[in-house]
Amino acid sequence: MVEINSTRLLDDLAALRRIGGQGTGVVREAFTATDLEGRRWLARRFAEAGLRPVWDPIGNLFGLPPTGRPMVLIGSHSDTQPEGGWLDGSYGVVCGLEIARAAQEAGLQGIAVVSFADEEGSFEPLLGSRVWSGELPFSAIQDRTDRRGRRLRDVLAGMPELRAAEQVPPQLFKAYIEAHIEQGPVLDDAGEAIGVVETIVGMQHVEVAIMGDQNHAGTTPMDRRQDAVMGFVAFAHAVDEGFRSEAGPSTVWTFGRVTVSPNATSIVPGRTDATLQIRDPDQARLNRLTARAERIAENISANGSIEIRTQVTAKLPPAPLNVALVSTLTSAAERLVPGRWRRMVSGALHDAVPVSRIMPSAMLFVPSIAGKSHCFEEDTRLSDLVQGCAVLAAAVEQVLVGHLPWNVV
Ligand SMILES: [Zn+2]
Repeated sequence: MVEINSTRLLDDLAALRRIGGQGTGVVREAFTATDLEGRRWLARRFAEAGLRPVWDPIGNLFGLPPTGRPMVLIGSHSDTQPEGGWLDGSYGVVCGLEIARAAQEAGLQGIAVVSFADEEGSFEPLLGSRVWSGELPFSAIQDRTDRRGRRLRDVLAGMPELRAAEQVPPQLFKAYIEAHIEQGPVLDDAGEAIGVVETIVGMQHVEVAIMGDQNHAGTTPMDRRQDAVMGFVAFAHAVDEGFRSEAGPSTVWTFGRVTVSPNATSIVPGRTDATLQIRDPDQARLNRLTARAERIAENISANGSIEIRTQVTAKLPPAPLNVALVSTLTSAAERLVPGRWRRMVSGALHDAVPVSRIMPSAMLFVPSIAGKSHCFEEDTRLSDLVQGCAVLAAAVEQVLVGHLPWNVV
């Protein structure tokens, strides 16, 4: 029986929190001094736990056990947003470390741990896991710069560890499991302890350009205007109304970026550019919503003096997680926290998305107090952190000793 040591788990989480800690939060942006300090600390903890620390060429840090047989990989990321919380990512990595130690103490081998590089997207969202899983070629992003103006390939060249970098073939692993804080309010609101993720949402981005006619704000009569902001308001309102009738329980949409041109008090706006992001676990619904937004733009353009152009710039399919692993997690949850868990959709993207395309993968959530994340207030009750790790450990034990039908997806 794999029994985690809750003191060791919480002490390691607290130690990692101090690296880059600011007040109650953490600032450890990818490939900065604090990020590398945190990951070097993890490498030492891996070694102390009998796991060989291995850096791969994109800067992912693995802790590999001395075993030849297929392993179970547990982890997440340890970088943060420019202002981040202490648990986003770190929880999954430290859970992996603790489960690897606890499994060894129970005489079980075969747990590997990973801290994927730059999940938060200083250079590219999910950078390390996307490159490792083969989805994103390094050549396509090596000249990418972060907000400090640093080039990715220079940053990697400056890391002494990467002179001895090794490829870590995904074929070494038979499964990937990621524990993470929910980063939303569902579990906390319901007073539940565990969320077992069935699907991670897909996402589509529509770039919208509303073309008006720039003119004097004092002299142009209202009936003569082609105001690009009013065109945007009409479009956004129609999308919001139209989507409501078609939305599923997990559908969300956001006009997150809106720029007005020329953005001056005394000028009727000539152009507005906006992004519409749509997220949903159902590919067909994502396609229908995107098509609906395009139709609304065509209708407004056909019926008035404003022209609205749309272009779909990103299409990321949903990531359904492995059915056998999901049911292993749900039975572990029912054993340890009966009636206090649920199956759910993840509205946030995680390293499990690219990894799920190359091996059976699963995710487990613990509650975020008041649903807060990507901020210094991000927190989870310590008892929930321990409980989540215990459920994961119980499931992983089944995966290591059991015979699950891996090809069932
Ligand atoms: Zn995260």
